[in-house]
Amino acid sequence: MTPVLNADLHCHSTVSDGTLEPEALAARAKANGVELWALTDHDEVGGQDRAIAAAAQAGLPYLTGAEVSVTFAGETVHIVGLGFDPDDARLRQGLLDTRGGRGQRAREMADQLALLGIRGAYEGALRFAGNPELISRTHFARFLVESGVCASTHDVFRKYLADGKPGHVPHRWAALGDAVRWIVEAGGVAVIAHPARCKFSPNAEYALFSEFKAHGGQGVEVVTGSHTTAEYATYADMAREFGLAASRGSDFHSPHESRIDLGQLPPLPAGLTPVWELLADRIR
Ligand code: AMP
Ligand code: MN
Ligand code: MN
Ligand code: MN
Repeated sequence: MTPVLNADLHCHSTVSDGTLEPEALAARAKANGVELWALTDHDEVGGQDRAIAAAAQAGLPYLTGAEVSVTFAGETVHIVGLGFDPDDARLRQGLLDTRGGRGQRAREMADQLALLGIRGAYEGALRFAGNPELISRTHFARFLVESGVCASTHDVFRKYLADGKPGHVPHRWAALGDAVRWIVEAGGVAVIAHPARCKFSPNAEYALFSEFKAHGGQGVEVVTGSHTTAEYATYADMAREFGLAASRGSDFHSPHESRIDLGQLPPLPAGLTPVWELLADRIR
């Protein structure tokens, strides 16, 4: 397999905060020319069996996936796991524990929004959540758009839900070492998701990459829907500096919300090891 393979190893279904079912995503990936696909729902592998079956039916090579929420140095970091055994008991328990705090957090978010005069946000967000265990800020954003409070989900994050905004509730997710170990011990490869989205100082970012690697992490997303073209080059350099393989994924959530569709990203920069070279024997 060559680095120009149209791999899309990051997207979300209704099992987390995407708006399409796993089957619809498989069909869309295939139609868009994706040659290797992974569904990476937040903190959840409940969509994997459906994605595996739908990919097989579409003749689409598939890697299992999940995006684990982690707290590192007081900030949220996302770690994508690829090619693991989705039935691994330790991984499943770790993800269950990680998503366990979401219900309480959502109630606190609704309380904060109520103080701003926005009523019924918990119930409203829950209506948008395909999986009640996986209520996320995205579901609140969709509710606030539906209620006319904001014009777009992007506006909702900017005004209410981003870190430091009035509807944001700080939360402690999994530890970095735990998330990496769950993935690696389930036979997978751990990848730092969209690192440019984390607003770390250079020192904290260096610590993240060093500790991630020390825990057994092997990859970093270089080309993602969350990075600018300049950031592709920055994180290609980071991949080389830290000896990490490079991943590529749209982070597609919804035809109406996502800037980049499945399979529409540019190829990885030259001279990197594509993460799928580490996963050749785990492709289904
Ligand atoms: P949560 O896991 O509940 O904290 O929600 C995080 C999710 O919110 C991310 O996975 C994105 O789907 C979404 N999100 C975060 N920031 C933004 C933003 N600025 N605009 C739109 N969606 C965002
Ligand atoms: Mn999301
Ligand atoms: Mn993410
Ligand atoms: Mn994502």
